[in-house]
Amino acid sequence: MKKLFNKFKLFRTYGNSYAFLGVCGLFFFCETAKGLDITNYLSPWNRERPVRSATYYIVLHTTEGFNSGSIRKIHANGEAHYFLDTAGRVSRIIEEKRLALHAGRSVWDGRQDVDRFSIGIEVVGNYNKDITQAQYRSLRELLAIIQEKYKIPDDRVLTHSMVAYGAPNSWHKKAHRGRKRCGMLFAGESVRQRLGLDKKPSNDPDVKSGRVVVGDPYLAQVLYGKSEEQKKAVVRYTSEDANVISHTRSAWDIAGDRYKSESVVYHFPDGKERRGNEVRDWKKMPVGTKVFLSEEEKDDEAENILEIGVDGANSREVAGEEYNSKTTIYFLPDGHIMQGDEIGENELSSLPEKTKVLVGYKYGGKVTAKRSAFEICGKAWNFPSTYYRLPDSSITPGNRLNEGQIPKNAVVFFRN
Ligand SMILES: [Zn+2]
Repeated sequence: MKKLFNKFKLFRTYGNSYAFLGVCGLFFFCETAKGLDITNYLSPWNRERPVRSATYYIVLHTTEGFNSGSIRKIHANGEAHYFLDTAGRVSRIIEEKRLALHAGRSVWDGRQDVDRFSIGIEVVGNYNKDITQAQYRSLRELLAIIQEKYKIPDDRVLTHSMVAYGAPNSWHKKAHRGRKRCGMLFAGESVRQRLGLDKKPSNDPDVKSGRVVVGDPYLAQVLYGKSEEQKKAVVRYTSEDANVISHTRSAWDIAGDRYKSESVVYHFPDGKERRGNEVRDWKKMPVGTKVFLSEEEKDDEAENILEIGVDGANSREVAGEEYNSKTTIYFLPDGHIMQGDEIGENELSSLPEKTKVLVGYKYGGKVTAKRSAFEICGKAWNFPSTYYRLPDSSITPGNRLNEGQIPKNAVVFFRN
């Protein structure tokens, strides 16, 4: 039975060589298995990453950058299991059985933190451009191998844009999809066919169940629409004014969660320029402002620390409907740390500027001699999404700390 299954996959891999395969049979399979050369280029994080207990999905990404810069960053941070360059060469960054940090804040079918259940593949390219012939060949083969090994059906081969979601922010009152367009092209019918994928998810299970709302209707059309709807929506992302702010298109619509990053440049109608981290009042962004997204920036999966006065005027604007939730953490300028449910309504609406905010986080308490970071948040202790408030009041992500170096009395916060 296993051999039959192998053969079936073979047919998928070389769909137009049916006749030839009929003759060569299993021999050919050995050739193709060898045909996909995978080079080990293991991240320095590899050995530190825990072994995953389950594998239900494959998540496809596009790097939005070029070969060399992309692999450097993904290797340095351990952000994928496999990396596929434009020549179709495959590198192994994190061993398949271990956890790679590629999907960030994510949920699929009720399963939070999709990294814990998936294998991530980074493909050099752009979310709205076709990949190379060589990439089609290698990716098709790589998918077939992984799908067979973990028994992953075609409709569980997902894109990062499908599983990513954002915490409430000044544009969205609720947790929402649309945080990223990463890997969007892999939802296209014809692209999937060429990759040997017959089925795709017909809808977003977490929108259906009400866990998240649609943040970007065009993206939703590309991901789940019929072929014609998909094409129309893609035009929106490639049209001339796609990167210009209008009454119906905000900075977030264009740049997603990167809107306030240093790498995003806003070119105002009066000729002035400002980087995302220099903009203060997002509501006053003039219509006609052009947005330039840097090519070389890959997904930055470190969580945004929000700030009152920058991301919104008050807690409601910054954290949306989760402003008074237990899992919204406020770091006041005077050093106090409070959870949203501990603060009265009046105080919540008048929190001072420079108050830092984490949305969707658990308060882990202090790291002490008797209580290690691992005991508090387990495998997530050194994730970039886990934060430590150090005794000097700075807030540092987990991937910048070594286990022995976490100061006593550091307070830890990890994603809910
Ligand atoms: Zn991605």
